[in-house]
Amino acid sequence: MANPHYPTSTLERPAERLLKHFKISQVGNDTIRTYLQRGFSLAICCRDCPRVIEWTPPELERRFGARLDLRIADLALRLSCSGEGGCGRRDVAVFPHLYDLPWRWAESAQHGTDLDTD
Ligand SMILES: [Zn+2]
Repeated sequence: MANPHYPTSTLERPAERLLKHFKISQVGNDTIRTYLQRGFSLAICCRDCPRVIEWTPPELERRFGARLDLRIADLALRLSCSGEGGCGRRDVAVFPHLYDLPWRWAESAQHGTDLDTD
């Protein structure tokens, strides 16, 4: 149901140099919750073909709303360049990208003063 196309996104594929040197450890301990709280999209870049996928905050919430403590690093290890136009390889780099549309996570509004302490 969700529209996979986000024509307003400013997401661009990072420089090849950055992708080449990407290590999963760069992602640190960020979780789905971190991304939702900060309004980050998850940018998924295949390292074997030019494909870039953006999982926006609403998309992340739809897919992983029940698993907010899922670490982005663990998620990234399971990703592959699948779907239409994908090459099927599992070698992907992931980056946060500040989402371009106004969006506020409903759950953070409910827990307004709940600050991130990690
Ligand atoms: Zn690919």
